[in-house]
Amino acid sequence: MPQRHIPQRTCVACRSQRPKRDMVRVVRAPDGAVGVDTTGKKSGRGAYLCLQADCWQTALKRHALERALKTELSSADREALAAFGDLHATGTVAGDRQEGEHLCPDHSAGAAADPARDPLAAAVADPTTTAGGR
Ligand SMILES: [Zn+2]
Repeated sequence: MPQRHIPQRTCVACRSQRPKRDMVRVVRAPDGAVGVDTTGKKSGRGAYLCLQADCWQTALKRHALERALKTELSSADREALAAFGDLHATGTVAGDRQEGEHLCPDHSAGAAADPARDPLAAAVADPTTTAGGR
């Protein structure tokens, strides 16, 4: 029976094979610039990494990306790639959604800065209201 072929790519850090869509492609463009290729369509030499912070750290630490891309990464490149790895690491941890809620700007900013929510606090903050004897 013919099977549908799912393209697999090997992570340069942990060497495990995963479907291409579960990987992130890092590409060295013909001009030497190294970056994350979120579209998977950039031209140049590519290397794949899992969406796991460990793999990104390992790849940077062991120079696996540099070997795979046959180039040297600048410190700026390394920082950008490390940051990208961290970003995706938090996004893929299932069940750890509380952190995202803490980061929600509406929660903390709204309650503290809106006196209209608490009439008493508004009155104290505005002396003319109490002086008027309302
Ligand atoms: Zn990996």
